[in-house]
Amino acid sequence: MGGDGRATGGRSLLPADGSRLLIGGKLVTGGDGVFATVNPATEAVIGQAANANGADMDAAIAAARTAFDDTDWSRDHVFRARCLEQLRTALQANIDELREITVAEAGAPTMLTRGPQLEGPVADLSYSASLAETYSWETDLGTATPMGIKSHRVLRREAVGVVGAITPWNFPHQINFAKLGPALAAGNTVVLKPAPDTPWCAAAVGAIIAEQTDIPPGVVNIVTSTDHGLGAQLTADPRVDMISFTGSTQTGRSVMTGAATTLKKTFLELGGKSAFIVLDDANIVGACSVAAFSVAVHAGQGCALTTRLLVPRAIYDEAIQAAAATLSGIVPGDPADARTVCGPLISERQRARVERYLEIARAEGGRIVVGGGRPAGRERGYFIEPTLIADVPNTATVAREEIFGPVLVVIPHDGDDDAIRIANDSPYGLSGSVWGTDPDRIRHVTNGVRTGTIGVNGGIWYSADAPFGGYKQSGIGREMGLAGFEEYLETKLVATAG
Ligand code: NAD
Repeated sequence: MGGDGRATGGRSLLPADGSRLLIGGKLVTGGDGVFATVNPATEAVIGQAANANGADMDAAIAAARTAFDDTDWSRDHVFRARCLEQLRTALQANIDELREITVAEAGAPTMLTRGPQLEGPVADLSYSASLAETYSWETDLGTATPMGIKSHRVLRREAVGVVGAITPWNFPHQINFAKLGPALAAGNTVVLKPAPDTPWCAAAVGAIIAEQTDIPPGVVNIVTSTDHGLGAQLTADPRVDMISFTGSTQTGRSVMTGAATTLKKTFLELGGKSAFIVLDDANIVGACSVAAFSVAVHAGQGCALTTRLLVPRAIYDEAIQAAAATLSGIVPGDPADARTVCGPLISERQRARVERYLEIARAEGGRIVVGGGRPAGRERGYFIEPTLIADVPNTATVAREEIFGPVLVVIPHDGDDDAIRIANDSPYGLSGSVWGTDPDRIRHVTNGVRTGTIGVNGGIWYSADAPFGGYKQSGIGREMGLAGFEEYLETKLVATAG
């Protein structure tokens, strides 16, 4: 980043005096001035973000409502596809600056920006664009004679209307685009309220939309703020037809309650405490090493990470050794370094939260096998050591609650059915992994585990055409894939007599 906090090289997306909100097609300053955005790896202020107030949110909702009600946006499928492709192209043209912002603001390891932290979700906008053009918006249900009246029925799919999108900080682009892409492709207008920890990631996209695309004014509005209350305002506003929320289960509950007054459609992607199940016919060392590695990626700040390692009781010690060997070899480092896997946590608050869980683990009789504190030699930045906790039951706090740090809990199981039982003994049901060699046993386990996604022997479920989401308290609905697109549609049945 440049000395003034902006990315260097060419014209910057963000003005030096602070990023801007995008409201009604215009880039505007925030009603509450600016707030600092901080690099979690250095604790340095990298710049200022526009701080919106309630009046700004009100204006953004009004702009989105007008753009939906008074323009052809929702009906012109070809134009929307063109706009989304244009957005993808413009984002790709600015990818290096977006990368710098993402690494500096989210603490995302650079290597992840070549995949799910940036380039993957940008490329995936093409999937949404193509759906806008190829989707069957009308289905002929033929003629029937209900109640003696001959009627020709046509099923139409239409945009829901104004979508309020509320997002967290951990994968800011992935989550923002997994909402913007399908919501816009389906013909909705959007008010995006990103997390206060990653305002620039969203504001840079807002600048690109305003200055480098034909997306009409009001179709996308981006409102950055320190005030979580703006999310609640968006949720409660009667002009908003749908809330698409990703964040913690606790906030998801507030969103559901807030949306209840106006009974708006609510789509929720929430937390997880997923299980990594190792069967006794698996390559134990290989599987446990993968489990350990994956929990340290992006300092464990991923909702779908498998943070409970379930291993056959007979090889419990061997499994601990394998996981510990991998975790102790991962040194938290500068996310700007191309080799870094484990960067910092997002904030001081988040690190304090992880440290609190480590204290609870000790208090509940857990054994910290590796890690358990701040890494030596890193006085600045919100780093925490990759940590392995053993000797706690599945009822322990650290086995039940989402920690959102590089912390793996290892728990023994007594066979395939017991592993399924432990995996399902959780309020969450987001993801999972199973490792073994017998296809019948693997099928039995994947059938038994109640989660929205599950990988087998390292299989990757993440892609534009694959729906993602949770069972139980991990959410309601699916993001991405055809199912993710259809979340943003209403269904209308038109029956014509004769
Ligand atoms: P968070 O719930 O604290 O905040 C998420 C967003 O909600 C932020 O934009 C915040 O400003 C807003 N918000 C806060 N209070 C609100 C309210 N009362 N009404 C409306 N909006 C409100 O989550 P976070 O700490 O930013 O992110 C981490 C959490 O996100 C973790 O629990 C993680 O599991 C979850 N997450 C889930 C998925 C998924 O797809 N299931 C993906 C990524 C992250």
